[in-house]
Amino acid sequence: MSVLVIAEHNNHLLHAATLHTVQAAQQCGSDVHVLVAGHDCSVVCQQVSRVAGISKVLAADDVRFAHALAEELAALVVALATDYEHVLFAATANGKNCAPRVAALLDVAQVSDVVKIVSPDTFERPVYAGNAIATVRSRDKIRVLTVRATAFEPVSADAGNAPISGIEIPALPPGVTFVGSQLNKSERPELTSARIVVSGGRALGSAEKFAEVLAPLADKLGAALGASRAAVDAGYVSNDLQVGQTGKIVAPQLYVACGISGAIQHLAGMKDSKVIVAINKDPEAPIFSIADYGLEADLFEAIPELVRSL
Ligand SMILES: Cc1cc2nc3c(=O)[nH]c(=O)nc-3n(C[C@H](O)[C@H](O)[C@H](O)COP(=O)(O)OP(=O)(O)OC[C@H]3O[C@@H](n4cnc5c(N)ncnc54)[C@H](O)[C@@H]3O)c2cc1C
Repeated sequence: MSVLVIAEHNNHLLHAATLHTVQAAQQCGSDVHVLVAGHDCSVVCQQVSRVAGISKVLAADDVRFAHALAEELAALVVALATDYEHVLFAATANGKNCAPRVAALLDVAQVSDVVKIVSPDTFERPVYAGNAIATVRSRDKIRVLTVRATAFEPVSADAGNAPISGIEIPALPPGVTFVGSQLNKSERPELTSARIVVSGGRALGSAEKFAEVLAPLADKLGAALGASRAAVDAGYVSNDLQVGQTGKIVAPQLYVACGISGAIQHLAGMKDSKVIVAINKDPEAPIFSIADYGLEADLFEAIPELVRSL
């Protein structure tokens, strides 16, 4: 069975989410191709060709794909999709933007947020904020999936040697123009692929305190910063740091939740973390029920002390 994976990249670097998606793809079928659509992205094609277990890299190197606009990428994927039984996207902002368009244009159902490939036509996905797992069978000829990266181990980024083939670009929809983007620059690891995440909640009280108290801990641990929705809504940090049902899904080796109560919508985004540490002054806080280590303390005292002793 042939499977098409849509690579996530920034024209220079392949994003780790693709390695997780390839793992899922290999469980769907044995012949896995990866589409790299971008501009001046030959470096990414080389990176993809070294990924373990793929048999072909499809390179769509064209200025129109410079910004991976979903409308144009979807048209390209639809033109290719009839050669495949499965089309897989990572369940990232980009994947979630493009996959529904592809599914709609192919007139098939999309299966979202897949966490397990039971068989090539049967998948598991969380529902009710992760409180239940639905088993979904798709009878469509082409299955369009978004894959939750944290549920699949990454394949090796340096164990393959797949050939790279340039592909013809079909007619793309007119009327879509890239206007601009504002990107947050950070020296810290990216939230969804970080090995350690330090997250803060409403308890931090202000943007200044969030930075003053949590940044030193994140820096000492080499961690990414995350936040609860309450912290984001209160303007302490930008919303790309939000962890949870309506934020990002993370599963790092270590998740440190500081002044976060542990609402179900927050847990939906981090409960698969390998080790969870909670710092909260309320012994009844629900976060303690899923924490491996809990510290009942005032975070404004405990965290600086922790930073000093690290
Ligand atoms: C549809 C929907 C989607 C949602 N999606 C998300 C989501 O994606 N992510 C998300 O996080 N939330 C989400 N929420 C919101 C969620 O329900 C909670 O409101 C939110 O997670 C609470 O954030 P918090 O834990 O920071 O704040 P609170 O619930 O107010 O908790 C603050 C905690 O800090 C503790 N604390 C206070 N002061 C200190 C101190 N000095 N030292 C130590 N501890 C202290 C308190 O004991 C308390 O436990 C969603 C809600 C809805 C309805």
